[in-house]
Amino acid sequence: MTNTLRNYIGNTWVKSKATEYADVINPATAEVIAQVPLSPSAEVDRAVQVAEEAWVEWRQTPPSNRVQHLFTLKNLLEENLDDLARTITFECGKTLEESKGELRRAIENVEVACGIPTLMQGYNLEDIASGIDEVMIRQPVGVCAAITPFNFPAMIVAWFLPYAVACGNTYIVKPSEKVPLTMKKLFELFDQARFPTGVINLVNGGKETAEAILNHSGIKAISFVGSTSVAKHVYALATANGKRAQCQGGAKNPIIILPDADIETASKIIADSAFGCAGQRCLAASLAVTVGDSKSDFTEAIVSQASSWVVGYGLDDGVQMGPVITQASKDRIEGLILSSLDENSDLLVDGRNAKINNYENGSFVKPTILQNLKLDGNIIHTEIFGPVLGMVHLDTVDDAINFVNSGRYGNMACLFTNSGAAARKFRYEAQVGNIGINLGVAAPMAFFPFSGWRDSFFGDMHGQGKDAVEFFTQKKVVAERWF
Ligand code: NAD
Repeated sequence: MTNTLRNYIGNTWVKSKATEYADVINPATAEVIAQVPLSPSAEVDRAVQVAEEAWVEWRQTPPSNRVQHLFTLKNLLEENLDDLARTITFECGKTLEESKGELRRAIENVEVACGIPTLMQGYNLEDIASGIDEVMIRQPVGVCAAITPFNFPAMIVAWFLPYAVACGNTYIVKPSEKVPLTMKKLFELFDQARFPTGVINLVNGGKETAEAILNHSGIKAISFVGSTSVAKHVYALATANGKRAQCQGGAKNPIIILPDADIETASKIIADSAFGCAGQRCLAASLAVTVGDSKSDFTEAIVSQASSWVVGYGLDDGVQMGPVITQASKDRIEGLILSSLDENSDLLVDGRNAKINNYENGSFVKPTILQNLKLDGNIIHTEIFGPVLGMVHLDTVDDAINFVNSGRYGNMACLFTNSGAAARKFRYEAQVGNIGINLGVAAPMAFFPFSGWRDSFFGDMHGQGKDAVEFFTQKKVVAERWF
């Protein structure tokens, strides 16, 4: 029997009146595992209505009481970690270990948001003029919403939601229609954490449901994560409608290898960055930039890594990499590999036409390495979002930094070196928001902002930590004189 998903509105699981449903597909087996409603705007409207009603009391609930639900949620997430991880792998394809890693990051955000009674404090100054005192207080903004992508079904919503509700806002989530099962399980846990009626709501759907959220006057702030073209559109529409918006987009992350780096270790870390989660991380290494003499040793080491990775179903033991999200995505990735060959790059490891025993219908692409990408070609600037590492060679660290700064995106750049001076120069000059030194995935911990720049981010306040508190509160300044 098909698992037909429901929305969660006003703490009740409600059947959608959608006329259209999308299939949810296990990317390793190609089986249809659920059907998700593409909810109409009336259901967004209903969710906003209950969230607005809930806001009246929730914003008056003391922050120390609000976070009690998050303490409960943290424990529920720990208790249900294995089940949640299996669900992520089931619908998203990544390995079980990767799913558990994602959940650890989600839990970390819940933990940080539990500190809201401290984090949300304002500040004050006595005697701004004689006998007059001034106070800055933070107040919640109202009903807020998240529109999330497929690649981290549990973690990304946690960059926003725990902070939003801890700050006294109420919330609506529209998850990716490709991976709605994890969100369903998370909402079962929100339910058990006994958030008051209407504080957190789930409306499933695709583009039209998202548009209804962006156009709804009752929603005051939007957190979006997805591809750059959609992020740009969401930012433009949300802000034109008078909402706060923070929109994280795509990436093309370069990793630079200097000749003094430990090449063997670097190649292992870079392989994990490029091929982990099948390359479907916004912080995946997609370009390896060898500098000077590092080229031949690094090339040999990374080719050996890429050729030895075990690809298969993420629930099976020993598998290092699962499938990409859909057959359409596999076709797109393989098409981009072909375009790169048309631009005269060299295919050192070819992951196309992968066939995995027992999973012949899965959307698998094996690790792929393209060398000598053309600096003036298209592929060097195109987000492939698959397990494909492009390589370029440059002469100096200055050339490499200029290359990083010439890219369209600014999500992450990493440097492998033993030189403190080179690392310092890179950290200082690279025009990207997340920097890694001798790291392959420079993902900020929950108490730091997730800091993409340029076409990787539209807005000013990022997700996580203090930026999230800033985003989910509005400042009010009170000057007082008493006679
Ligand atoms: P996507 O842009 O296709 O979809 C993201 C969300 O937007 C989904 O919920 C989708 O239903 C919705 N959507 C699609 N079209 C829309 C439209 N026209 N208007 C409003 N909403 C719309 O992205 P995806 O394929 O799910 O995710 C992969 C992308 O996300 C990659 O580009 C990746 O780099 C990016 N990403 C970025 C970060 C980051 O932190 N910068 C993190 C994760 C993923």
